[in-house]
Amino acid sequence: MAPKYLTGDKAGIDEFLARFDVFLFDCDGVLWSGDHLFPNTAETLDMLRSKGKQLVFVTNNSTKSREDYKTKFDGKGIPAQVEEVFGSAYSAAIYISRILSLPPPKNKVFVLGESGIEAELASENIPFIGGTDPSLRRDITSEDFTNMANGSMLDPDVGVVLIGLDFHVNYLKLALAFQYLQRGAIFLATNIDSTLPMAHSFFPGAGATGAGVVTAYGKTPVALGKPSQAMMDAIEGKFRFDRARTCMVGDRLNTDIRFGIEGKLGGTLAVLTGVSRKEEFLGEGAPIVPTAYVERLADLLG
Ligand code: PLP
Ligand code: CA
Repeated sequence: MAPKYLTGDKAGIDEFLARFDVFLFDCDGVLWSGDHLFPNTAETLDMLRSKGKQLVFVTNNSTKSREDYKTKFDGKGIPAQVEEVFGSAYSAAIYISRILSLPPPKNKVFVLGESGIEAELASENIPFIGGTDPSLRRDITSEDFTNMANGSMLDPDVGVVLIGLDFHVNYLKLALAFQYLQRGAIFLATNIDSTLPMAHSFFPGAGATGAGVVTAYGKTPVALGKPSQAMMDAIEGKFRFDRARTCMVGDRLNTDIRFGIEGKLGGTLAVLTGVSRKEEFLGEGAPIVPTAYVERLADLLG
């Protein structure tokens, strides 16, 4: 079915909003773009809350923890609780602790990523190495090759390799991740976004900085961010919502809108202030089509 265009359609907006009790919100590209807060974001979220809607902020950004996001919301003057934030790093942490539930000692995680992942692993009491460890920010040496191959440089307790966006990716870390995988570690990713939209341009995303490990290993990781349904299940496990009365709001068709469609939510709402363009879903035979779309989130204010 063709998506309904809601911008400027007051009756259509009222009818659409009435269909849902819960809104899952993508963050970047919907509420803000990088450091730029879109106009009337707080007012739009207030309007939804005043109608009794439950809001959950679902982001693929693994570089920040839920606490970091709370700080970000506070800084932008948007009321939000830590409990309302659900990031891909947290999603990975609860997948490891509650689904994998690996018995010690082989329950340590080797992280290719930033502090957001470390904070969320720590919040679930999961031991980890790698990540922001400064001793790994260096060139690989011939001793490293030898000591990895003979195992003396490896931690025998590592049972999981978790990759996310790593701003300090280097050959040494790729090699360590690959070594652990060859020794049987479970392969996970916070998210596999190919690109990272920043400052009105695109940069390599988590899928790109982890691609060296994926290519070497020849297998793809289980990804715990959007559009993975493991993330949807984890959100549902926490918030216990009725999928038929839940709407996913997002700017990216292949992550956000696909996430909502494959999760069999009651609806999806695309906003055009981020990555995807309306031509991608309006054409005949478009693969991912939202239920409705608006030019910008604040158009919901009518
Ligand atoms: N990953 C990183 C590192 C980011 O900085 C962002 C956006 O800020 C994203 C992913 C995408 O986030 P979202 O799912 O909120 O659009
Ligand atoms: Ca987004």
